[in-house]
Amino acid sequence: MTEAIKTSAHCQCGALTLHIEAAPVVQFVCHCRDCRKFTGMPFIEAAFFKVDACSVDGQVDSTIIKGGTGYDKIHCSCAVCKTPLYVRVAALNDAWAVPASRLSPFKFEPQAHIWTSEKADNVVIPAGIAQTAEMPPKEIIDAMLPVFWG
Ligand SMILES: [Zn+2]
Ligand SMILES: [Zn+2]
Repeated sequence: MTEAIKTSAHCQCGALTLHIEAAPVVQFVCHCRDCRKFTGMPFIEAAFFKVDACSVDGQVDSTIIKGGTGYDKIHCSCAVCKTPLYVRVAALNDAWAVPASRLSPFKFEPQAHIWTSEKADNVVIPAGIAQTAEMPPKEIIDAMLPVFWG
């Protein structure tokens, strides 16, 4: 987690590219309705990066929604092919949450499954990993907030 890495993400058509110049701060599997609606997936494997490590090439379609915390989340998709590519999270100092499946090179290592209260019925969470009904576990929040806001 401390070693700087460089990864990128592309939309389906290639018009939109994210460049990320740091390791993720946290990684979650999120089961919330917002993420599922945004991606059309039963859950989202998301890596969260500090905003100052992220940049984007191409035209973005963005939609602002109210997050569970009352802070805004901005869903960002390619303006051309509409691939959902990242979410800007105001509650985390504008951190970018990117679906791990779009990142390359990247190794997804989730720390918890979150928002299981909104989980799709047919999704089974593997044993041996933290899970919470809503927000991430307190010890993870306590560790990540100073990093995002520092
Ligand atoms: Zn595209
Ligand atoms: Zn979510």
